[in-house]
Amino acid sequence: MYILIIRGIMRINYKSQYYYTDYTKKYSEPGTFYNVKEKPTLVVFKPTLNCIANCEHCKPRNKKFSTNNKLSLEDYEQLLKELKGMGTEQICISGGEPLIYRDIIKLVRLITKTGLKASLNTNGWFLDIEKFKELIDAGIICINLSIDSPFSEQHDRLRRLKGLFNKATNQIKECKNLNIPFKLNVRMVLSKHNYRNVSEMIQLSKELNADILSIDMIEADSKNKLFLLNEKEIIDFKENYVPKLIEIVKSMDIKENLKKYNIQQLKDMFNTEFNDIHNFENGIYWPDENIKKKCDIPSSFMIIEGDGMVLPCNAVEYNRDKIIGNILRTNIQDLWNSQEWKEFRAKKMEFCRECPMNMSYMIVFNDDEISRECNTI
Ligand code: SF4
Repeated sequence: MYILIIRGIMRINYKSQYYYTDYTKKYSEPGTFYNVKEKPTLVVFKPTLNCIANCEHCKPRNKKFSTNNKLSLEDYEQLLKELKGMGTEQICISGGEPLIYRDIIKLVRLITKTGLKASLNTNGWFLDIEKFKELIDAGIICINLSIDSPFSEQHDRLRRLKGLFNKATNQIKECKNLNIPFKLNVRMVLSKHNYRNVSEMIQLSKELNADILSIDMIEADSKNKLFLLNEKEIIDFKENYVPKLIEIVKSMDIKENLKKYNIQQLKDMFNTEFNDIHNFENGIYWPDENIKKKCDIPSSFMIIEGDGMVLPCNAVEYNRDKIIGNILRTNIQDLWNSQEWKEFRAKKMEFCRECPMNMSYMIVFNDDEISRECNTI
């Protein structure tokens, strides 16, 4: 990876970030999943929590913040410098829907100018061709597009926004047709509503010329059980759908190592040799407390909300327990090295058992490095 700056033109090279750890094996072995060095490699900015969609699965994150308390671009500039010094490599701008945030292009430009990679989570509603060109020019290198179903009606119902599927998929096709290098990661939240349609999701991802289809497990649904698969559905998925998905992957025109990787991922989903099926249907992803010793996420990741709140991982977005602090009061380096964060890394919490952050799956179609120029002025 190299970055060359000449008169405001910057060349960025990027390789898809994906990883696989045999977590069922590593879970019972000493050490953590990834043995990461303690530095915030990936930081998620959430400059707004507003969204045009109204997804049920997002509801448990019920935080809102006042526009009066927003971080300014100057705050972000300072923060980015500090993060760069702490070893951050990539900023993912998320939300809410980040394309609602008024200064999104300026923020992307600041990230790129600081020498960090910028990626974007979006539902695609506002991703028209003009916005896309601006984002690309500012340095966005990877777009994570949320699509929960290959069928427009189902997707719109799950995200509760009529027309979202057609708008998002048509717009991303137009963007792709420009032949500008960027990575496209289609992300679906797997649920009882769509587990039968993963093969169509693979088909759709290929039609959209995506590099990756990510399959995320549902977070924070153990109380309501609106999305979790029940025992019967888990068995149906594993016995009747996974074998077909493996055959689809085998027949794909992709690199052999990616086929192997994808097949391993599919086989690992709802691994009932490792975790009881009743745990899975109740939203308990880990069989016992061992997860507290395994998870590296609070050592390599953080979320910074648009009002400056700093969270060590996704679970805290829902329960608001263990918020580390606020960058408007304490600088990020001090928070990162604080006693609170150290304790959370060492001891973690009971809620870890319900956290699927270490259990994301990916079908990777293409992992070639991309390279392009962007404009830092
Ligand atoms: S909730 Fe626990 S297991 Fe999940 S990311 Fe946070 S620390 Fe790791």
